[in-house]
Amino acid sequence: MPVDLAPYAVAPSNSRGRRYREDPPAYRSEFQRDRDRIIHSTAFRRLVYKTQVFVNHEGDLYRTRLTHSLEVAQIARTVARAMRLNEDLVEAISLAHDLGHTPFGHAGQDALNDCMREFGGFEHNLQSLRVVDQLEAGHADFPGLNLTFETREGILKHCSTANARRLGEIGERFLKRQQPGLEAQLVNIADEIAYNNHDVDDGLRSGLIKLADLAELPVVAEQIVIVQHKHPGVSGRREIHEVVRSMIGIFVTDLIDTSQARVHTAALENIAAVRSQPRALIGFSEPYSEAKTTLKRFLRKHLYRHPQVNAMTEHAQQIVSTLFEVFLDDYQRMPTEHANSAREHHDSEGLAGGARVVADYIAGMTDRFAKQAHENLHNASGSSKAGTS
Ligand code: MG
Repeated sequence: MPVDLAPYAVAPSNSRGRRYREDPPAYRSEFQRDRDRIIHSTAFRRLVYKTQVFVNHEGDLYRTRLTHSLEVAQIARTVARAMRLNEDLVEAISLAHDLGHTPFGHAGQDALNDCMREFGGFEHNLQSLRVVDQLEAGHADFPGLNLTFETREGILKHCSTANARRLGEIGERFLKRQQPGLEAQLVNIADEIAYNNHDVDDGLRSGLIKLADLAELPVVAEQIVIVQHKHPGVSGRREIHEVVRSMIGIFVTDLIDTSQARVHTAALENIAAVRSQPRALIGFSEPYSEAKTTLKRFLRKHLYRHPQVNAMTEHAQQIVSTLFEVFLDDYQRMPTEHANSAREHHDSEGLAGGARVVADYIAGMTDRFAKQAHENLHNASGSSKAGTS
């Protein structure tokens, strides 16, 4: 960790601390401790079997939520170090930011959100916070992982007004229209850089998109020219890798230059000054912001909505909604611990309480566990459970 953090960076000395008091760690910073708790959590290990774009079993070389989270962390750490922000904190936020993701990527989340519509909805971002605040159950003295305020703030990227009111301290900034710390802002953008570029890489690997089509985008065309100039005649995987590498490089460079300039202009003296800014300071310049949007639009049209990806999406939605219906109808079809919890919450909060437990159970599933649970429904006579967790 760089010793000379900028005055507007989050530091252990200006942290708002943890919900449950603990002695400070002996050898690590508070944020290193957060990171370690995240890495040792069950939800983190499950990320390896969760879809980014391609369903986990489709090929061993595609990104999963785990490798995506690691790529986000690497990008965010580079920028944090260059800007003298808190590298440990951005690492912790990056590794935790997708912990609440359902199986089957966005298709799974949309399906679960539909199922939960009458019961307050389902949102993966909010669920990531729920995982670290409540659902992880490895500590004797408190629920969840008892992370610092700043890591939790970074996890909760957006939030409705109703949820913000319900969440208390962590929801305050949405009500007061304040900005989160620069580290939280940074991870948000590092996430975009990571997925835009690795989805290009995975999309090309799958053959669903072609480099020649991507070359319609000026930002890609420029990188191809640079790569070909540096390595005349390079082709195939090597060319793709060099182009993606080059794209990550230019987006990261623009992000650092633009954000540094904005931070300098704002003359920030401390973290309170960061929070009271009218807008986020970490971001791209206008041309790169536009290039990013164009790239996203291309991926949405040609990759995320590709018929082959759509077919997977429809199947995934069907699995998630069937599991939800069956479990909501009969809690006993979940493993005992979840069934008991659903019953308790149902008794105290009504059907919505039970539904939330069902949603937590489904959201925690990996792709293959969800598929297996779905198959088991058909094999079961109704008395056996849909798997164990
Ligand atoms: Mg992400």
